[in-house]
Amino acid sequence: MGKIVLLDENTANKIAAGEVVDRPASVVKELVENSLDAGATRVDVAVAGGGLELIRVVDDGCGLAPEDVPLALQRHATSKIRTAEDISRVLTLGFRGEALPSIAAVSRFRLATRQPSDLAGTLALVEGGRILALEEHGCPAGTEISVKDLFFNTPARLKFIKSEGAETAKITDTVQRLALSRPDISISLTVNGRPLLTTAGNGSLADVCCQVYGRQAVKLFLPVDWQGAKLRLTGYVSHPSLARANRSLQSFFVNKRFVRSPLLSDALQTAYQTLLTRGRFPAAVLFITADTAEVDVNVHPAKREVRFSGERDVYRDVLAGVRQALKNDLLVHKMTHQSLERSLPERAVWPATSQAFSFAAEQAALPYFATADPASATPAAAESRQDEGSFPVLAVLGRAAGGYILAQKDTGDLYIIDQHAAHERVLYELLLDEAQSGQLPVQEIVPLVFQFDPVSAQSLEKSLKILARAGLTFESFGNNSFILRTVPLFYRHCLNQDEIQEMLAATAETGEEPALFEETVKMMACQAAIKADQVLAREEMSSLLSDLRGAKQPYTCPHGRPTTMLITAPELAKFFRRR
Ligand code: ADP
Ligand code: MG
Repeated sequence: MGKIVLLDENTANKIAAGEVVDRPASVVKELVENSLDAGATRVDVAVAGGGLELIRVVDDGCGLAPEDVPLALQRHATSKIRTAEDISRVLTLGFRGEALPSIAAVSRFRLATRQPSDLAGTLALVEGGRILALEEHGCPAGTEISVKDLFFNTPARLKFIKSEGAETAKITDTVQRLALSRPDISISLTVNGRPLLTTAGNGSLADVCCQVYGRQAVKLFLPVDWQGAKLRLTGYVSHPSLARANRSLQSFFVNKRFVRSPLLSDALQTAYQTLLTRGRFPAAVLFITADTAEVDVNVHPAKREVRFSGERDVYRDVLAGVRQALKNDLLVHKMTHQSLERSLPERAVWPATSQAFSFAAEQAALPYFATADPASATPAAAESRQDEGSFPVLAVLGRAAGGYILAQKDTGDLYIIDQHAAHERVLYELLLDEAQSGQLPVQEIVPLVFQFDPVSAQSLEKSLKILARAGLTFESFGNNSFILRTVPLFYRHCLNQDEIQEMLAATAETGEEPALFEETVKMMACQAAIKADQVLAREEMSSLLSDLRGAKQPYTCPHGRPTTMLITAPELAKFFRRR
């Protein structure tokens, strides 16, 4: 006799709930998404006990017709698509018809709804998937759903729920991101009776960002607006001085849907290359708008991920769009920026996105020089090249101990420039330019022998061409050793065998070609740059500042440390109480 039976509807719903509503925050997400899909202009969320005691979502949307209420509580019942093909055109956040039955299967569920045109509304009470009541009911237009005692009948699930604090943080995070996704809708969150977030719904993303990130932080946001071939990129990224040790300040939205995407995170990070020190991540609220046919939204049970048809193009556009935003801004580390950053609280409510991703491989597969500056291929880039040299003309005033050049702009703004960091930036860009155009002058040296462990030696063996492009010509010498025959001309006087050995050993571990090329160039620039204790003549300082003015990214050294600090004339006057 056969052993297979069809599961009854309630059991199937409980299983689906395991995927769709794994924790209170997912319930909040599904309910608010339904409200957004229902055309609400206002959505109020209230939670208690980390969402396990109560989740209530009230909206002023289109409501449900009385005859649709029992259907909405059934699996695979949806008003949003009719056929599978519709998924590729779907503009609503939901489309599977799974959320309401899943939630109702694992809670004490109450739905009160009325279409604005109807006189009477409908009330449905469901407990653990059993419909207890379904009746006519007087209520305001729109929909109110209360979910009590979530997971009361699935003790195994309950065990996996973290502390009330952690669940509340996750809920807050979810509502904040939903609010960011729709500045045109007023969204509020109340936790244990205390209002935590209210957005105006006036359509201003900047306003929502102020609610979510705080007004001070938003002062460090730079607008992004980029039109690619197949997508438009808008939103904000942060000045590099606003960065965190994790990606918690980053949100990506694809056609207004919040998504996690290693592809997008990686493109963003690459845009900040040399602007941030390792392990620091900028803030970003980025919207991608693309034809629905270019985006597959049906790849994740909770619809948290999407797949793009042209991943490389998306990567390139995000990289180019963010780079342009950064170029447009004067990336100077202002005094005020520093103090702002200090005053900004670390936001515990934005959890880290710990995603294992392997986009590095994909990235390495792109032609390196193209990714190094894909913008240079577009007309927009040609324009933005004109604002190279956004570094102002400065008159040198003198030099402070520790290698800081003091200089002044004609407006009276005071600049303090780290001579080593500045020179490192200048050399780095020069060397990169020359290496990329194959015009790096090199010189033969008395051969130096480098010895490696077998694993590093093997990985370096494959990288000899890249090193040669950076002016370091190595030859295999057998026995895991290599001889260095040439170095870039400018690097000759500061050649340091230990540094090279260390850098090669470190990059051999990562085995990434772009990284090796970059690290090599950075290392040589750092070695060759004037040291902090070196006393410079006034003309030398002037010429360094004018070189810096010609740099593409004058405001950070290639390791992402600042080169320049600015105290504006008004700030000086304010400090000395002159006004
Ligand atoms: P989906 O969103 O995938 O369609 P759900 O189970 O979340 O599936 O919802 C089922 C249906 O119930 C929706 O298609 C919609 O017609 C209706 N619905 C759910 N929530 C609301 C709401 N807040 N306002 C109006 N209709 C709603
Ligand atoms: Mg839904």
